[in-house]
Amino acid sequence: MTQLINHLAEITGFRDRDQLDASVVRAVHDVLRPLSVGIYRCVGEVGGERWLTRARIGFDDLAATADPLSTDIFALPELRSVPARRQCLLTGEVVVAGKVPQTSCFPIATEKEVVGVLEMQTARPLGASDRAMVRTIVRIYGNFHDLLDHSERDPLTGLLNRQTFNSALMTRAKKVVGSDVAESGRRAPSAAAALWLGVVDIDHFKRVNDTYGHPIGDEVLLLLSRLLRSSFRHFDRLYRFGGEEFVVVLDCVAADQASLAFERMRASVERFEFPQVGRVTVSVGFTLTDVSDTPSSAFARADKALYYVKEHGRNQVAQFENLVRGGEIVETHIVGDVELF
Ligand code: GH3
Ligand code: MG
Ligand code: MG
Repeated sequence: MTQLINHLAEITGFRDRDQLDASVVRAVHDVLRPLSVGIYRCVGEVGGERWLTRARIGFDDLAATADPLSTDIFALPELRSVPARRQCLLTGEVVVAGKVPQTSCFPIATEKEVVGVLEMQTARPLGASDRAMVRTIVRIYGNFHDLLDHSERDPLTGLLNRQTFNSALMTRAKKVVGSDVAESGRRAPSAAAALWLGVVDIDHFKRVNDTYGHPIGDEVLLLLSRLLRSSFRHFDRLYRFGGEEFVVVLDCVAADQASLAFERMRASVERFEFPQVGRVTVSVGFTLTDVSDTPSSAFARADKALYYVKEHGRNQVAQFENLVRGGEIVETHIVGDVELF
């Protein structure tokens, strides 16, 4: 019992979701000694969903492992390839399969939806009290997820909020550059340092509000956030930064891929028919971050590229470094929040 309480104290001490997931599987591993226990999340577009391993630990393992940050979604197992887990996710009910060994799947539910599954293999069928204990751990975990969401996410769009950006970008940069203990380490070190930051701003959004009213404007923001989600990969980070301004952080891709990703998103927004409003466009400025960046210095470069696009016709994507190389804008050095010319 003391061991379990200690684990619960540890779980609720984390603000980082990677560590949180690893600590939950460690708690179940230490208390119940199953053959294996893992937390799995469903990622990908509707119809093409796959299983992402957030944390998994086997009987003899000392630490949990997870799918690397930048896993290619097509390398992950399809939803239907793990039927018990799928049924648990879709029904929100505990699903038990087999006897020796036995697989037990517990839904991880937040206020809004089932966000994942805790699955464990046990040599013998799980007793009623053990099952109740896992349910309690999973419930605490789900509640804690809700608390984190409330503090980290924007209520209208569900995207990460501006306050989360500073700490998250820096943690992310450290993880991408350094080795991440929670991951299996399949990432190529040469690709590791590339972290791109893009600022996306709706063109003439004031007109939308003025013409159709604020609630319709809010609906455009909500639909746009969905378009952003479906345009980028599951591990890219999306923030609602201000009213109609969004920040996207892309991991580990080459310059042409980053440019293509932003361009694909811009084009999909341009094609989308927003109810009542019709067509809406966005302008994008982006930059390559490096280890010496602060969140504000990287943001300021992307914002300059965005400003350039706003001054040159809108509805385009521009990379800060290209604009500097082409002599279109002059690079300034930003230290902390102060610009040095
Ligand atoms: P530009 O192409 O230069 O970006 O023009 P713009 O009109 O989009 O830019 P501006 O910054 O002048 O206006 C942004 C507008 O966004 C102002 C405000 O009416 C609107 N806005 C900000 N936050 C919200 C929000 O939460 N909901 C709605 N509906 N509108 C918002
Ligand atoms: Mg705007
Ligand atoms: Mg704006």
